[in-house]
Amino acid sequence: MAKYTGPKCKLCRREQTKLFLKGERCYSDRCAIEKKNYPPGERGRRGFSRRSNYRLQLREKQKLKRYYQLLERQFHNYYKKADNIKGVTGENLLVLLESRLDNLIYRMGFAPSRSAARQFVMHNHFEVNGRRVNIPSYQVQVGDRISPSGGSSKMGIIEESLKKQSNREMVPYISVDADKKEGVYLEKPTRDIIPVPVTESLIVELYSK
Ligand code: SF4
Repeated sequence: MAKYTGPKCKLCRREQTKLFLKGERCYSDRCAIEKKNYPPGERGRRGFSRRSNYRLQLREKQKLKRYYQLLERQFHNYYKKADNIKGVTGENLLVLLESRLDNLIYRMGFAPSRSAARQFVMHNHFEVNGRRVNIPSYQVQVGDRISPSGGSSKMGIIEESLKKQSNREMVPYISVDADKKEGVYLEKPTRDIIPVPVTESLIVELYSK
């Protein structure tokens, strides 16, 4: 499936939830979902018609996939991996997604959005435990330290993003030292502390068919 290049806010309106795809705008009153909380399109104002169980499962899958901005194949691979890990598949899936390097850079406030975080990683602007990593999907391990590499720590966009970090919901499984420009992945989160508005059991049902 090709990468989606259309208006990002439409994706949030389609899923009827904030997916935080546009940086600081998402935390302001300019957020489209605050103003137009109905699905896009001509029939959007009428809302969704009756939803079948399949449709609900599909929407939850799309929502989570879009939240982390993944392609279908990448997302399905995460599901397969989660299914092979001991424990609850839905929770495993969320932990794998949360442990991505680009996601943690965003959560730590080094980048205004996950897509910006991904760009930073691909352009060698970040290191894990002092070693440059340019793979956005890199699985960060508990205890790993994440920081901008060398001169990248002086990049205006990173400094600006860190200043606005307090606007965001901080998750308890990371810590950030804004002065040192360093974040630590403290622990693998449990489902109850991952702030992702999705019913992951519906996704498991969808893929288990
Ligand atoms: Fe979604 Fe609002 Fe951000 Fe647009 S501004 S991407 S609607 S959260």
